[in-house]
Amino acid sequence: MKNVEKFIRPTNISELLEARAKEENNILLAGGTSLIFSKDASVRTIIDMSEVNELKNIEFSDGKLKLGAMVTMTQLRHRSDLPVAIRNAALSVASTPIRNVVTVGGEVMRGVYWNDLPVALMALDAVAVFASTTGERAMPLEEVFSLHPTKTIRPDEVLTRVELTDYMRPAAFHKFSKTATDYAIASIAFSARSFEGSTVREPKVVVGAVTPLPRRLNDVERLLSEKGESALEELETLFSGFKTRPDFRVSAEYQRNLMIVGIRRLFRAARDGGEE
Ligand SMILES: Cc1cc2nc3c(=O)[nH]c(=O)nc-3n(C[C@H](O)[C@H](O)[C@H](O)COP(=O)(O)OP(=O)(O)OC[C@H]3O[C@@H](n4cnc5c(N)ncnc54)[C@H](O)[C@@H]3O)c2cc1C
Repeated sequence: MKNVEKFIRPTNISELLEARAKEENNILLAGGTSLIFSKDASVRTIIDMSEVNELKNIEFSDGKLKLGAMVTMTQLRHRSDLPVAIRNAALSVASTPIRNVVTVGGEVMRGVYWNDLPVALMALDAVAVFASTTGERAMPLEEVFSLHPTKTIRPDEVLTRVELTDYMRPAAFHKFSKTATDYAIASIAFSARSFEGSTVREPKVVVGAVTPLPRRLNDVERLLSEKGESALEELETLFSGFKTRPDFRVSAEYQRNLMIVGIRRLFRAARDGGEE
């Protein structure tokens, strides 16, 4: 960002949205953990959101859980009234110093394969709320991630919060990685409306890191809805042709195995309260 001419620090949402609408070639600064590496020479203005306190709230209102875009992973991790799947995903992000600054907005908008939080949020049907000077629009995270999130957001918009309605349903999240602070080689989240004996209603399975962006596994969900817990023994067939994104740390075959093992574990963890 060698051509930056201006650094702005709005102190409320309306100032932030005004700046976003009017400043030439601006970029939003949240935790800064990925922005610091940007080499984008077109950026003229940095808009720092660190003083916009309205974006730092975790709220329960209108029957929804609302996570402000500037809420950090550390905040999420320490809130015992939040779903375990969200707290565990927040805790999976890198290390304590990095979790102290990485934000909900940064996790959603960065759009890299190792972002852990969006996997858990998507399994809980989270909705992203984008705001501009002309108003707000809400979009399910699943839709946000149908493209890279930077292609979904308009240049005059800010992601202000993520909202969850049915946030207390059974859910669990697990990140597989080579070390505690490494990027995921596979991350998985599972949620369901309810469990009755060995049957499950409205299961949702989302994977990350094995695909470039978080992805719901509709075939797995269908099989679990039809057959309940016994479907967990048939997952090998479903995954035999699943295309993953292996790298120098992990083979495609190992990633497929992690997904199978992960779904089995998380189905049971969600049923038994979210902790593995
Ligand atoms: C060493 C290291 C290890 C890491 N390991 C992990 C890991 O294991 N798992 C994991 O999930 N993450 C990990 N991260 C964090 C991850 O890579 C990103 O850096 C992080 O998600 C970005 O969040 P941020 O708040 O710092 O955003 P920033 O870096 O400030 O911004 C990221 C991008 O999002 C945009 N943006 C931010 N907020 C908004 C908003 N509200 N509205 C619109 N656009 C916005 C910015 O303009 C920018 O383009 C790691 C980071 C580091 C440095």
